[in-house]
Amino acid sequence: MPGIAATPALAEKLAKLGLVRADDLVLHLPLRYEDETALVAIAAAPWGEPVQIEAMVADVAVQFRPRRQLVARVCDAAGDELTLRFLNFYGSQTKQLESARDSGRPLRLFGEIKQGFFGPEMVHPRYRVVDAAAPLPEALTPVYPTTAGVSQAALRKLIAAALAAADLGEILDAAFCARHALTPFADAVGFLHAPPPGAPLGALQSREHPAWRRIKFDELLAQQLSLRRAFLARRERGAPVLAASGELGRQLRARLPFALTGAQQRVVAEIERDLAQPFPMQRLLQGDVGSGKTVVAALAACRAIEAGWQAAFMAPTEILAEQHYLKLKAWLEPLGVRVAWLAGSLKAAAKRAMQMEAASEAQLVVGTHALIQDAVDFAKLGLAIVDEQHRFGVQQRLALRKKGGDAASGAIPHQLMMSATPIPRTLAMSYYADLDVSVLDELPPGRTPVKTKLISDARRDAVIAGVRAAVAEGRQAYWVCPLIEESEKLQLQTALDTHALLAEELAGLTVGLVHGRLKADEKARTMAAFAAGEIDVLVATTVIEVGVDVPNASLMVIEHAERFGLSQLHQLRGRVGRGAHESVCALLYAGPLSATARARLKIIFEHTDGFEIARQDLHLRGPGEFIGSRQSGVPLLRYADLELDTALIELARTEAERLLCDNPAAVERHLARWLGSREELLKV
Ligand code: ADP
Ligand code: MG
Repeated sequence: MPGIAATPALAEKLAKLGLVRADDLVLHLPLRYEDETALVAIAAAPWGEPVQIEAMVADVAVQFRPRRQLVARVCDAAGDELTLRFLNFYGSQTKQLESARDSGRPLRLFGEIKQGFFGPEMVHPRYRVVDAAAPLPEALTPVYPTTAGVSQAALRKLIAAALAAADLGEILDAAFCARHALTPFADAVGFLHAPPPGAPLGALQSREHPAWRRIKFDELLAQQLSLRRAFLARRERGAPVLAASGELGRQLRARLPFALTGAQQRVVAEIERDLAQPFPMQRLLQGDVGSGKTVVAALAACRAIEAGWQAAFMAPTEILAEQHYLKLKAWLEPLGVRVAWLAGSLKAAAKRAMQMEAASEAQLVVGTHALIQDAVDFAKLGLAIVDEQHRFGVQQRLALRKKGGDAASGAIPHQLMMSATPIPRTLAMSYYADLDVSVLDELPPGRTPVKTKLISDARRDAVIAGVRAAVAEGRQAYWVCPLIEESEKLQLQTALDTHALLAEELAGLTVGLVHGRLKADEKARTMAAFAAGEIDVLVATTVIEVGVDVPNASLMVIEHAERFGLSQLHQLRGRVGRGAHESVCALLYAGPLSATARARLKIIFEHTDGFEIARQDLHLRGPGEFIGSRQSGVPLLRYADLELDTALIELARTEAERLLCDNPAAVERHLARWLGSREELLKV
């Protein structure tokens, strides 16, 4: 495989850009283009857009007011003048311009003309001293993503060499390309790196040109192939067959104070079918906040336990993990199931005891990240359940899976991941293409939808009165403190201040406080008191964002709602509306609002459906944040756009399936070209 000819220092910088092989350079495509194929006269140049001008230096001076700057006056062939201004410059630049002035060699200037104090000027133009009548480039000039110490010129040279050295051979079927109007690969990269004279700048910049379409397709195809292949490899490892009569699950269902919704029944059946297979389930259970995922997980655990294996249930925060533990214990212990609890806050001796339990008799182990620590060694883990999966990194989820299975046969445990942050369809089709997805698309009956109110913080008094009214009716309220992302210390102070202020404003009511810095047992005590109705108003940071379930709480106040992200607001709002009482979510905001904050508040006000909110969020923010830690360290799709290129995702998906069946050699070549050594990182 051709590498890159570069000095070690340059090679190191290139590696930071992910450029190690000639193939990488071939796929390092321009961010944009500059049109240096023509010159315009100063008088004719449009202002405010990039133009190229050729002019002689008339005058060079370093000025000191209002700040130190290099100013040159240039004059074109028609005699029109333009001022050049450099606020950052080197002494050598001054000399260079002076020598151009003295020798009469012209400057080629590239930049935007603006109205200056003394007529038209260019600030920090790109320029070159040229010979008179030096030829103009014939093609658009590509501008590449780069890093300090790697110049555009150096990249261009390296890329031109790579285009000559790399294998640009076509991998896709010619008939397939023709049917779907896909430009041949070599033509596409050749065109994008060096657009021929007259190439349409607009379609290139907007990435709508057919050459871009081919590149986007290839990128999506590589992603689909890689995920799909990881999926197949996992299947080959095998998994314990968790088949059982279903008696334990039936007993649990009989003891529940409610009947399962249709959606829950359907999803439980899907999971049970998977668990009875000899290859590992890799299933994502999506359900909006409050849709009842926990009981589905409990029923899955019953299946594993009845089949003689252990189940582990991991949650991202101690508050949530403990709540799950208490609930699962209450459900399952009466049925004779041994439930263990493992969290970072346990005292050393208790932790050791629980680790022993996990290594021996425990049938269900509930906990936080503590579950994946080295000291924990499961006896016979057959099912790993990860709640709020988007809160964990790939490595953490993998670590839980690695704790189980069967070393002798190489089998790995089944995995059930749960999330209330719905993944928009395009993301589900791309980054999550290797997962099976179950959706709880039905809320348990008897819920009244949460009413959302947007209230200016000038009307805080009205909100305080609302809290009093709710408590007078026997309800409880959450009060979420303003988010201070920059500083944990400030965040803590804000929580303390908010609590003190509310205790005063709500004199006569019991006002509790939870925040991230409390010791785990203090947190647990406060949450238990709130769940038991001993606290009327719980002041909280976002530690209550996920999972917390207190059905009697019917009012959620979020202060400075404009600082929160959409999924956070949706999750927080989901803490209420869990009982039969009419619930309200009051979003207090302080103006003036930025355009994005306004857009977010409008979306959360208008929509209650988590999928719709996630879709709009994706639109607002782009996919990066959704994927979160799953893809950390891996560049997101560089060229394809999940929102715009849905049709290409579909096409890549079907073609990936076909290639995996029919043409393994093409699969290898395509993955080598696109991912090289990076493929490992994509695995789940
Ligand atoms: P989430 O999907 O957000 O994790 P939970 O599992 O916490 O939701 O469930 C929310 C609440 O709904 C819990 O109090 C749970 O016991 C209750 N619940 C779950 N399923 C049903 C059902 N079928 N009918 C009534 N209540 C249910
Ligand atoms: Mg939950």
